[in-house]
Amino acid sequence: MRLVVLGGGESGVGTAILGKKKGYDVFVSDFGEIKNNYKEVLLLNQIPWEEKQHTEELILNADVVMKSPGIPDKSNIVKKIIKKGVHIISEIEFASQFTDFITIGITGSNGKTTTTMLTHHLLKQGGMNIGIAGNIGKSFAWQVAENKFEAYVLELSSFQLDGIINYRPHIAVMTNISPDHLDRYNYDYDLYIEAKFRITKNQTEDDYFIYDDDDEAIVKWLSENKIRAKKIPFSLIKKLDEGAYADEQNITTHINNEEFTMAINELALEGKHNVKNAMAATTVAQLMRIRKETIRESLSNFQGVEHRLEKVLKIQNVQYINDSKATNVNATFFALDSMNTPTIWIVGGVDKGNDYSELMPLVREKVKGIICLGVDNSKIMKAFENVVDVMIETASMTDAVKIAQRMAEKGDTVLLSPACASFDLFENYEDRGKQFKNAVQNL
Ligand code: ADP
Repeated sequence: MRLVVLGGGESGVGTAILGKKKGYDVFVSDFGEIKNNYKEVLLLNQIPWEEKQHTEELILNADVVMKSPGIPDKSNIVKKIIKKGVHIISEIEFASQFTDFITIGITGSNGKTTTTMLTHHLLKQGGMNIGIAGNIGKSFAWQVAENKFEAYVLELSSFQLDGIINYRPHIAVMTNISPDHLDRYNYDYDLYIEAKFRITKNQTEDDYFIYDDDDEAIVKWLSENKIRAKKIPFSLIKKLDEGAYADEQNITTHINNEEFTMAINELALEGKHNVKNAMAATTVAQLMRIRKETIRESLSNFQGVEHRLEKVLKIQNVQYINDSKATNVNATFFALDSMNTPTIWIVGGVDKGNDYSELMPLVREKVKGIICLGVDNSKIMKAFENVVDVMIETASMTDAVKIAQRMAEKGDTVLLSPACASFDLFENYEDRGKQFKNAVQNL
């Protein structure tokens, strides 16, 4: 069997290693450059590869193709493979055929990484020999090749779900759905929603589907489509008999006739969105029969995730918060919503067709100054010029942070939550967040 791997990054090289171990004739092809450390691994494992090109004779003779999530369906080579009728699958699909353990698959537009890491933390503290993979850290296929763990929590993007055929998570979590990555879905929101729901398509009556019952797009899809998995909702609004809900003080879950409650102010992560993430993770932990004491303890000692509402420093009683990962309006909505002091808001970058109107009430209530940080800030300037008194444009993180410091008074918060992609001024959101933290530390 010939396995061709498109993309020589973490998931590609991981798949190649697993494929080789399972006896496939493997070939890796990358249109860009392959990083040196991955080249060494390929060499060491005697796996042939090419870079800066796709040689059709070596690719179109595949029995199966694993495509890395970054490669769009529109690319020429993918079109040709589809035309030839060769199956194109994702790393998760390829690796899962060699596993007999359970996986917990987590998807959604926002909150995947946070919920995946929190869920992993709960299950690990509960004594499970559990791994973490997907969009996070070390490749799933690679870990499967090394027989690392007895179960996995997987962060699944819509691109990974596009490439599944038989993959079946025992527990699936859908954190929420809002428009994102539409450029990869012909600018059709429904296609993106369908891609997300592929997570449940192979689930059976023995499996579980955990979802945000306050999310319009999710509730609508579920009312129009049938799924086999047992549905477990969570909500901030409705008191649910089966599932998880929160009021002002507590989160409460009712799962399999077991009740669990915990005070919201004891959760390590702040903000309403994190109450949702905590409810989702708790539901998984209860399904996996983790002790309530352990769940409670783990929810309160979780360290948080870098670049997601990350508290950096308090200087002269001003709190600096790094939410660089907020690359869309919905994520920023929850960041602003969780502010409980007057806020200086650093926003901007590459606009993905943002509609800022849903932020207006929050900005009016909480934001005393806006610092735009992007190459083209006109849309933000226009949207908020009548809402906020002070607006300043900057073109570097150091300037933005220095100006923020000057604007802030004791008791205020300076929040970097850009609502935009980062690649006009930064390499990626991590680079943006790191530069923010450096600038704050140098104040
Ligand atoms: P993802 O992996 O889906 O991008 P992250 O956990 O990395 O999600 O969070 C991305 C951004 O969204 C961060 O700014 C974070 O604060 C915010 N966020 C986290 N959870 C949620 C949620 N449930 N709903 C909305 N926004 C969220």
